[in-house]
Amino acid sequence: MRILLALSVFFLIEHAFAEKSICYGTTSSGRIEKAVKLPGSGKNFVAYSAVARGAGRTWVHSDVYDILLESYRFLETEQPEKVYKYAETGFAAGGKFKPHKTHQNGLSVDFMVPVLNEIGQSVHLPTHPFNKFGYNIEFDKIGNYKNYKIDYESMAAHIVALDKATRKRGYTLWRVIFDPDMQKYLLASSYGEYLQANVTFSTKPSWVRHDEHYHVDFEIPCEP
Ligand SMILES: [Zn+2]
Repeated sequence: MRILLALSVFFLIEHAFAEKSICYGTTSSGRIEKAVKLPGSGKNFVAYSAVARGAGRTWVHSDVYDILLESYRFLETEQPEKVYKYAETGFAAGGKFKPHKTHQNGLSVDFMVPVLNEIGQSVHLPTHPFNKFGYNIEFDKIGNYKNYKIDYESMAAHIVALDKATRKRGYTLWRVIFDPDMQKYLLASSYGEYLQANVTFSTKPSWVRHDEHYHVDFEIPCEP
């Protein structure tokens, strides 16, 4: 019995080590080995597209994988009525990931903004090939698009959950890219104080407007 136990512990540890990814370079010039593919869905989240996932566009670093799933689990109790949708991450081997400039070493993740419908229910932003899997959606200045409005409270809760799960593993979020004009609504949420104190947001407008999605880069050490 004792031998059996020792053996299974050995295999568990062996398994844990085998799963660890190795990233190289930077998010804008890099690659990755032993990346992990994100699940298509969970209790409170879905992928932006089964087609894009099938095409291999949702692979991440193993630590990022653990962080993402842990934050969704945390949100099941923190924001039980809310649903989330993740978007582009990267290829299994990393490298160039058009049309993105980054997403090259498993440490960049895009998330679609969580939205409320006209009666205040948390719903998924529609993402399909005809709106470039959601990336073509344009919100107005305060966050309205058709009958959807950005759920800043639930988005802020998600960023806090990501930050906490990342810190727990001894890492940090490098940055969160989201429309600089709309960040004030996140800071006005009940998570604003935490975000202000702990999370670095992009301050200059980036090459594409980040209104329908937010981009997160994780600060996890990589090989050169
Ligand atoms: Zn991105």
